[in-house]
Amino acid sequence: MNVYDSWRIAAMLDARGMCATKNVADADIIILNTCSVREKATNKVFSELGRIRDVKKTDALFGIVGCVARESGATAFHRMPDLNFVLGPQSYHRLPQILENPDAKLLNIDLGGLEKFDEMPQIVNAPTVSYIPIQEGCNHCCTYCIVPYTRGPELSRSYDDVIRDTAMAAQTGAVEICFLGQNVNGYKYTDENGKVFRLSDLIRATAKMPEIQRIRFTSSYPTEMTDDLIEMFRTEPKLLPFLNMPIQSGSPDVLKRMNRPYSLDSYVEIINKLRNARPDIQISSDFIVGFPGETDADFAQTLEIAKRIRYINSYSFKYSPRPHTAAALMSDQVPENIKRERLAILDSQLNEIQRDFNETCIGKTLTCLCEGADKTGRHLIYRTPYMQQCIVAYPKDGAPLTMANIKITAANRASLRGEYVKD
Ligand code: SAH
Repeated sequence: MNVYDSWRIAAMLDARGMCATKNVADADIIILNTCSVREKATNKVFSELGRIRDVKKTDALFGIVGCVARESGATAFHRMPDLNFVLGPQSYHRLPQILENPDAKLLNIDLGGLEKFDEMPQIVNAPTVSYIPIQEGCNHCCTYCIVPYTRGPELSRSYDDVIRDTAMAAQTGAVEICFLGQNVNGYKYTDENGKVFRLSDLIRATAKMPEIQRIRFTSSYPTEMTDDLIEMFRTEPKLLPFLNMPIQSGSPDVLKRMNRPYSLDSYVEIINKLRNARPDIQISSDFIVGFPGETDADFAQTLEIAKRIRYINSYSFKYSPRPHTAAALMSDQVPENIKRERLAILDSQLNEIQRDFNETCIGKTLTCLCEGADKTGRHLIYRTPYMQQCIVAYPKDGAPLTMANIKITAANRASLRGEYVKD
């Protein structure tokens, strides 16, 4: 979501005749787009701002946008008095105001809803993989999560707007569409005639666009995985056989205190339905370890469910207390050393499962999408249908293919190696 937001901001500055520079010391405006999901990310923002202040041109404007801006509000100006602007994730379209009035301090952390989508210029020359936000905010109040505070209540964009943006991306270079939302599978838009549109409708319409060859979406909430959406995995071959559906914990007690209202049985049932619809589907998850009150027995249940589902790729985090959240006020916070220990154990188990899965791909031919060259320029990076990274030697005889059939020749935990299959 932040990558997409940054592209929109860049497109807006481009349209005003500005261009990007890699060198902070040359910049006339410096914008940090920020994440506040964990405390570490927030702290990094302020240390980075200190570094920027010391090297930037004296009259260069600098500021923060995104969730840390929303979380800190006016206190950001106290922590860093040189800042020129602080704009929340739903008010960054107001950035031009600071260009027009550079001596002012611009603060806006309103929850402006979907206004920003209408007010900003479109991204022209869509990237091969184009993100299309379909929904902002979140109504699930997970007790650890700051997102409902920073991005506000859930709002779905209109079906027509999403299809217009998707068609525009398709016509200007997109091959893969990734629909985005904090709670993407909860997408629900009712038009003026009362007709309801769901994520499955967006997928169906997008799959009809000939330029688009791959469709995916992130991030999904387990109880919003409705049958119409599961059915898409059976009927729509362009929908990738890969889904990130965070379970967070394998302990029913912890899930209850996280305010994640699903049982392990109901979660597993959804996975079974998905596998029934698309036998080769692979699942990834997010995990939080060391949530307040998590015992060794709770943690053991997390290890157990991870093994049972066999997530091929996961993100795991130490619980980080966040302002404006209920869990931060819970009394039985887990000590840092235990969180660290549990994270290492979980990570090593997840890594093993990931390596095993990658090894099962050796010898298979997979249709992959090119993401570009690596740093040396001697290799190309492809993504498999399961979103694994696959490295291929740059072809000596001709241009790289955007989509290619690649035979997997080797695997480790992080990536695959492969070669083009000659037609
Ligand atoms: N709805 C979004 C939420 C973004 S946060 C999504 O599903 O992607 C991404 C992940 O960060 C969450 O799934 C959760 O595992 C983790 N996370 C959120 N709040 C956290 C916290 N306070 N401490 C540690 N990890 C957290």
